[in-house]
Amino acid sequence: MFGPLAIVLGTIAAMELFAWWAHKNIMHGWGWAWHESHHRPRNGWFEKNDLYSVVFAGFSILLFLAGTYLWSPLWWVAAGITAYGVLYYLAHDGLVHQRWPFRYHPKGGYLGRLVESHHLHHAVHTREGCVSFGFVYAPSPDKLRAQLKESKKVA
Ligand SMILES: [Zn+2]
Ligand SMILES: [Zn+2]
Repeated sequence: MFGPLAIVLGTIAAMELFAWWAHKNIMHGWGWAWHESHHRPRNGWFEKNDLYSVVFAGFSILLFLAGTYLWSPLWWVAAGITAYGVLYYLAHDGLVHQRWPFRYHPKGGYLGRLVESHHLHHAVHTREGCVSFGFVYAPSPDKLRAQLKESKKVA
């Protein structure tokens, strides 16, 4: 039996891998109809892409219920998914896209790298040719730029 903390931390790590995979294969695949709104300028508070957060929230609510009534470790998995949702919101919606009521632009360090690598994801506005699909782990921006050049989508 793993301790609750190990389940939460393991779930957060697994969620980043899953989010990377889903962003690359679902959102930039058959789920593009929702995600496309995120690669265009947004007018208003919401975009269609936010529906993905609603789906994830619904899924973790079901898991919380399953953890309460069926098998208690699932409750901690649900807690890990929720914690990842908070991290995702802070890093992606807050820090990168400034969807919060204050201005903070990290210039260097890991947070600066996180913002830069996600802006490189947005350097391409089409379904194909994008780089950097993670949200919490940021690859090196230099490597991403080389990848972009390789795909010849950006001059
Ligand atoms: Zn994308
Ligand atoms: Zn984004």
